[in-house]
Amino acid sequence: MMNCCYHKQSLKYEPKKIDVEPTLSTEQFLEEGLKCGTCKEVFTLKEGQLSGYCGGCEQFLHCGIAGSCIGPNCTIVNNKQIYRLTWCIACIPKTVIINLEDIGPGKYCLCQECLDDDRTPNAYKRKI
Ligand SMILES: [Zn+2]
Ligand SMILES: [Zn+2]
Ligand SMILES: [Zn+2]
Repeated sequence: MMNCCYHKQSLKYEPKKIDVEPTLSTEQFLEEGLKCGTCKEVFTLKEGQLSGYCGGCEQFLHCGIAGSCIGPNCTIVNNKQIYRLTWCIACIPKTVIINLEDIGPGKYCLCQECLDDDRTPNAYKRKI
């Protein structure tokens, strides 16, 4: 029930736009080593090890993914598709249950900004 209301509400939000400015060719980009924000190891996109990009520290992640933020500030609508920003464990507040239990790729979390946002349903803000 909570979800249903939340989705209706969320349609009113001004969708954020994603600016993609390719500065490297795809081939160069795939070959380039990128450091995982959590373990600091270097991977190339070609290896398929990097499965996220943190919306907080803006680093690529191969591990330490907390999940996608469920809040309105991290929800991006592009071509009628809904994307949610991924966050790493280091960047999210450790005070709410959603950020401590059941975390990982494909799970939901809540960033500080969305935790402070009135539009985020209280159900997600339950503290430990
Ligand atoms: Zn981060
Ligand atoms: Zn890593
Ligand atoms: Zn957020």
